[in-house]
Amino acid sequence: MVDLLSAPPAPAPAAKTMRVARYNYPLDFGEGIGELTADLQRMLLAGRYVLTEEVSRFEAAFAEYVGVKHVRGVNSGTDALILALMALGIGPGDEVVTHANTFHATVAAICLVGATPVLVDADDRTWEMDADPLDAAVTPRTRVLMPVHLFGKPGPMEAVTAVAARHGLRVVEDAAQSHGARVGGRRTGSLGHVSAFSFHPSKNLAAAGDGGAIATDDPEIAASVERLRSLGQSGQNHHVAIGYNSKLHAIQARILEHKLPSLDRWNEARRQAARGYRERLADLPLRFQPEDAGEEHVYHLFQVRTDRRDALLKHLVDSGVDATIRYPAPIHLQPAFADRGWHPGQFPVAERLAGELLTLPIRPDLSADEQDYVAERIRAFFGAGGA
Ligand SMILES: *Cc1c(COP(=O)(O)O)cnc(C)c1O
Repeated sequence: MVDLLSAPPAPAPAAKTMRVARYNYPLDFGEGIGELTADLQRMLLAGRYVLTEEVSRFEAAFAEYVGVKHVRGVNSGTDALILALMALGIGPGDEVVTHANTFHATVAAICLVGATPVLVDADDRTWEMDADPLDAAVTPRTRVLMPVHLFGKPGPMEAVTAVAARHGLRVVEDAAQSHGARVGGRRTGSLGHVSAFSFHPSKNLAAAGDGGAIATDDPEIAASVERLRSLGQSGQNHHVAIGYNSKLHAIQARILEHKLPSLDRWNEARRQAARGYRERLADLPLRFQPEDAGEEHVYHLFQVRTDRRDALLKHLVDSGVDATIRYPAPIHLQPAFADRGWHPGQFPVAERLAGELLTLPIRPDLSADEQDYVAERIRAFFGAGGA
């Protein structure tokens, strides 16, 4: 017979758990998937896959969306950065100034064309490139400023443009995280001499695999990238430069063309999810990336900042929330750049951000229930009650 009095107390009911995913790639295809796959089948059976009309159609549509005259599709965002720099004639002996707090590819592209990356620190308020040290970073060898619109928030373009004009430099925007973001009514990617976009599946506008593009108003840059993505050909088997083989695939272009009309709606849904998080977490000891007047953040990533980041990350992951860290080490402390002469402490804000930013799941379809759950888990971590 069971002795009820000495039996251990029944365990408290487990807190309800929920899995909150970071990505839901298939959802983007939406209701038009039947029409899209019929078209992909037609393309496959037509037997033409390279630089077809689908590629030029998407290039024209994306150029109109960004607000530039020319877009050229390439194999990835990294290749877009490389080919943009090559089209500007950047190479050994040239310096390119960029941000210590960015994704590896920004700086790798500079190194891969043989140029020298020069870093500036992050701004402690915006988490974007700090514009104050830009002037001092310019030397007689500087040719390019490369701002990054990090996490989907426009970088400090007014200051970047002013410094570039003062020193006669070119501006290459890394817009890989900011499709559709606006500042002063203009889209990122239309604010410099040339910009690079990525269509990696994780980005706000995504292919079903790798893809990228350059955007520019300059017909010579566009023509140069057009040659460089096709092994330097100006006509069949007439090679006027040493280029790459880096073209946006026709299938990916068709997929991107299918998705582009939804981009503004998806970005608005991301903005709404970001507002939802902010409201639910407003009274906690967390900092958020500010949205400044006249600009529209598109929340490629939604970050919260706390000095208890690692413990909060573990708590969320244990709770089924697919939170993560972007980026755990700033550029100057990555092993790949160990020979560049950078040292710990050199870009202190970027180092602090690497230790304090936590990426919460954000997707266009992130539901109110999911936001409630993530917020409840974060509130529990800080010992705060319900919102
Ligand atoms: C994704 C990304 C890239 C590279 O794009 P890929 O298409 O993955 O090569 C470059 N810069 C930034 C800031 C990115 O987020």
